[in-house]
Amino acid sequence: MPAKSALGLLLLLNGAAAAAATQTVDCGRLLDVKAGVWRERVSVVVDNGVIKSVAPTGAAKGDIDLSGQSCLPGLIDMHVHLTGESHKEVETLRIKLSQDVADDAYRSVAYAERTLKAGFTTVRDLGAGDGLNVSLKRAIATGAIIGPRMYTSGTAIATTGGHADGTNGLSRELGKAVGHPTPYDGVINGPDQAREAVRARYKEGADLIKITATGGVLSQAASGQNSQFTDEELKAIAATARDYGFRVAVHAHGVEGIKRALRAGLDSIEHGTYMDDEAMALFKKHGAFYVPTISAGRYVAEKAKDPEFFSPMVRPKAAAIGPLIQSTFGRAYKAGVKIAFGTDAGVFPHGENAKEFAYMVEAGMPALEAIRSATLNAAELLNQGSRLGSVEPGYAADIVAVSGDPLKDITLLQQVQFVMKEGVVFKR
Ligand SMILES: [Zn+2]
Repeated sequence: MPAKSALGLLLLLNGAAAAAATQTVDCGRLLDVKAGVWRERVSVVVDNGVIKSVAPTGAAKGDIDLSGQSCLPGLIDMHVHLTGESHKEVETLRIKLSQDVADDAYRSVAYAERTLKAGFTTVRDLGAGDGLNVSLKRAIATGAIIGPRMYTSGTAIATTGGHADGTNGLSRELGKAVGHPTPYDGVINGPDQAREAVRARYKEGADLIKITATGGVLSQAASGQNSQFTDEELKAIAATARDYGFRVAVHAHGVEGIKRALRAGLDSIEHGTYMDDEAMALFKKHGAFYVPTISAGRYVAEKAKDPEFFSPMVRPKAAAIGPLIQSTFGRAYKAGVKIAFGTDAGVFPHGENAKEFAYMVEAGMPALEAIRSATLNAAELLNQGSRLGSVEPGYAADIVAVSGDPLKDITLLQQVQFVMKEGVVFKR
């Protein structure tokens, strides 16, 4: 069978129809995320994956009937790890010792499909070993597999023993066998290596940079919040990233690491658990985004109650940091910090990303603002504000639909019934 028809068959088997040249989607109502209002009975004309027009539904029937449903722009998750999913740590360790990168690669195919079918048409993948997320992005972009449009950091950048040092927790013996990770593996010490690591990501095919500026919960290391980059290293990252057109996403729980990253002019802080008033003022001064990942916090806090889920090193960190993120988010929102939706999916099962909306609303954010954080704001942080995050002419035809009014019941976004990405229907 020639490759082209094999692809066609694959898409067919997965319930997707190839993008017709021109098609009309009739929506019962459509959320105008910019104006913050529903537009009743509108039809969206899609041409080759791009929205051509949005107008009141006329007498003629469109190609896709969503007249009983509420349409929204495709959702965007700014913090996922599509090439992995968490297990009990004993299980994780066994997998690490006995399986190959190809095992993760095959599993990630299902994670990507689940994420898209949950309504997330675009994601930002913030770190995988072995360049796996870059390969996954390519496979999706060429239509070989089904998944969301990906923007990826490639390998995350840490310092020795830092949160994204993949050799943490190894015995001396195994450590020697594996060797010390280099800037190519995402581990740096000093500004020169920081520059080298950013350039290595360019070579790797990344779209942006991810660094781990403080300790984290799930690494085999004592602190979940110590500062792990010096000011000089952060400045070197910022300057080199600018040279290559990269934005920088910063994993940070501890307040000192958050402030250093904001002062260095980096673009988003992920988790942000221990931010104080001064940190919130710095966010606003520098125009940085906060990506909360409440879902990951709640998940690890819950798992910390199980004495066998995490190692003795990780468990106290999960119990201390996990429950704080939601209240930090509530304070940051009230203080006027710019927020982009992000979950850290992979820490919890892929496809459950939309639970984050309910957690945001629970913490005091209106439903419309939560939806804007996963459309307009996320697109702005991706530097794709003129192409993604809204259903209007000239934008990519990313449309999802639910029954009922998610502005009144935000949990409806956990039951997305229709997904179109770039004019191709993946769920109906
Ligand atoms: Zn993460």
